Amino acid sequence: MNNSVRQGVYIFRGNTLVVPSDTADSRLQEEIPLQKAGELRGAAFESDRFEIDSVDGSGPIQGASVSLKAPLPQDWKAVPMRHAVNLMTSDGFMADGFGPVGRLLRAFHIAQWRKDSSFCGSCGSPNRDADTGELARQCPACGRLEFPRISPAVITIIINDKGEALLAHNKKFANRVYSLIAGFNEAGESLEATVAREIREEVGLEVRDIRYMRSQPWPFPNSLMLGFAARHAGGEIKPDGIEIEDARWFTRDDLPELPGRGSVARSLIGLWLEGKL
Ligand SMILES: [Zn+2]
Repeated sequence: MNNSVRQGVYIFRGNTLVVPSDTADSRLQEEIPLQKAGELRGAAFESDRFEIDSVDGSGPIQGASVSLKAPLPQDWKAVPMRHAVNLMTSDGFMADGFGPVGRLLRAFHIAQWRKDSSFCGSCGSPNRDADTGELARQCPACGRLEFPRISPAVITIIINDKGEALLAHNKKFANRVYSLIAGFNEAGESLEATVAREIREEVGLEVRDIRYMRSQPWPFPNSLMLGFAARHAGGEIKPDGIEIEDARWFTRDDLPELPGRGSVARSLIGLWLEGKL
């Protein structure tokens, strides 16, 4: 990464990434040069500015949130971040936090956290940036520190004794996509227990040999997706009808529509297709 790129800024507007209109899909993860970003001053560019460390040694990251109230100038566009992530990772799995995509995801996560931590969660006073040298907000009234929140969620590929994988259609999924069973970790629960509980609740199966495989930051708004594999241990498929509309065992040569290539779900399915699970 060269210096000119580091002199840039990521700009957000609500859940969207703000870029010049002529930005190609393949360049969405590039920081916008500060001089160019200056065109947004009239759109309340200064509504929130921040600079944070990268986590991969690639240098500081600058971010800004512009107001949802002010219209964007002509020649700028707002791309929904979920769509941007799909576009940026269309050629393969995005590993945890590397390169420009990782920088963008980190900036987006922090931009949202800054908005959500504007006020102290204990006494309601306006927070300010902590002066402790940490990435934290601090309440000037009661001293409460608030760090960026990361919410762990698990996603699991279940394999049966015939080598088939369980794929499920969630009501929230677009089209007829079939993916893996996923859910949030509950307070006081190990990740392995989350895996077993979500599978029991959503499709009525018991599993064994729960193994951690890989992870992916998922800042919508603050998840970390933890990918697991497990073996079917008992029970017949029984979709809960609430989240899961349909779930079936699939063979490698008879697949439904799969989730996007950048997702941890698709990556786990890929391991199974390659015979690695
Ligand atoms: Zn307080």
